[in-house]
Amino acid sequence: MNKTVPVQKNDYIDVVFEDLTHEGAGVAKVDGYPLFVPNGLPGEKAKIKVIKANKGYGFGRLIETYEESPDRVEAPCPIYKECGGCQLQHLSYDGQLKAKEKQVRDVLTRIGKLENVKVHPVLGMKDPWRYRNKAQVPVGEHEGGLIGGFYQQRTHQIIDMKECIIQQEKNDEVVQAVKEICSRYGVRAYDEGRNKGDLRHIMARYGLVTGEVMIVLVTRTKDLPNKNKIVEEIISRIQGVKSICQNVNSKKTNVIFGDETKVLWGEEVIYDFIGDTKFAISARSFYQVNPEQTKVLYEKALEYADLSGEENVIDAYCGIGTISLFLARKAKRVFGVEIVPEAIEDAKRNAELNGITNAEFAVGEAEIVIPKWYSEGNTADVLVVDPPRKGCDEALLQTIIDMKPKKVVYVSCNPGTLARDLRILEDGGYQTVEVQPVDMFPMTMHVEAVTKLELKSNH
Ligand code: SAH
Repeated sequence: MNKTVPVQKNDYIDVVFEDLTHEGAGVAKVDGYPLFVPNGLPGEKAKIKVIKANKGYGFGRLIETYEESPDRVEAPCPIYKECGGCQLQHLSYDGQLKAKEKQVRDVLTRIGKLENVKVHPVLGMKDPWRYRNKAQVPVGEHEGGLIGGFYQQRTHQIIDMKECIIQQEKNDEVVQAVKEICSRYGVRAYDEGRNKGDLRHIMARYGLVTGEVMIVLVTRTKDLPNKNKIVEEIISRIQGVKSICQNVNSKKTNVIFGDETKVLWGEEVIYDFIGDTKFAISARSFYQVNPEQTKVLYEKALEYADLSGEENVIDAYCGIGTISLFLARKAKRVFGVEIVPEAIEDAKRNAELNGITNAEFAVGEAEIVIPKWYSEGNTADVLVVDPPRKGCDEALLQTIIDMKPKKVVYVSCNPGTLARDLRILEDGGYQTVEVQPVDMFPMTMHVEAVTKLELKSNH
């Protein structure tokens, strides 16, 4: 047996799971060597078969569980295993919240080298189902009709889905109806292999408070057979539809959207509220998928910003200005920066919609716009960042360190990059005061967290 790798492929071994990976697999260790085993839960004793033994880690398959975790539950979704969209339905909700808290704590210690940082228990949902306001389903064909749902795990095979129990029911209704209507009017599904066919994806977005629905048909070419009839039938059949758009993506790629979006019927945007603030949302703009928890998240960000009304605030990665407008009500001025031009148009419209006159917005990369703005003599008292999964660019972090805002509020959807960036900010003179994870994505391994940082007094 290899000295550094204590197991071999096809070995049967008994293990105890200690942890969960970011994909929700159980982690067991043999003499410190980690094995990742789908469906294993922390605390469980099991027999596994080693499937692969790499140099630093291996993979296994669960053969038999001797002792089940008290947190193990029956996954309620019938397609849970094939789909892969959720990773934690077999863990009780309470168990999920604990696992996410542990994940944040572990990563902050391991990657961020932050000892004893205050991580609060995760703020979860009362009812953690049917929360998503956006569905995006790939379309395929089966027995002459359109199907749509999800790619079977690790394949490009599309499996039809009637309902998704983490989606708003309205989105299920919309996707089912659009599939059926398009099928009947002879629309062909996009064929990835031959780069032929019409319809690639159906996107549905639902404003939880307003009940407004947006539908986006992502097509390979500008043509869509019987376009007008399809549109007419959608609006007569589905209540609440305010916008039907077409996005054209002619590239052979698994990126969902192309560059061109046009309105086929109705408005360019739908509206929704978070708390008292009204938002216009266009087809390509980022909008948080869990509106109920978004309010919890933004209120925490606002609490951490601790504004008195005198502050200049930057909201980097501002999307459609959601956090900016929450902050603007309590600040002197807010400057939001975002890379997607349509989102910035929405942000400006949203400021107007809410009668907010002390928020300004700029299109561009935060790591270019903010350093330039600072070099022109501007400065901020509080800076909020809410970057995508890859975290903040180093140039932006360096500008924060140079600019020295008294407070930084870091909203993150990826604890790994959060930890990396907190280390840089700590080394640059900031102290991580506290971290509040918020469960934006129940049943999945995704973790969102708001962090409060303060400038150390000697900086
Ligand atoms: N704060 C917003 C959006 C957060 S998502 C909200 O809560 O709704 C992250 C946003 O960062 C997205 O809108 C994305 O388009 C934007 N983005 C990605 N890279 C960027 C960059 N380099 N500079 C500025 N914005 C960026």
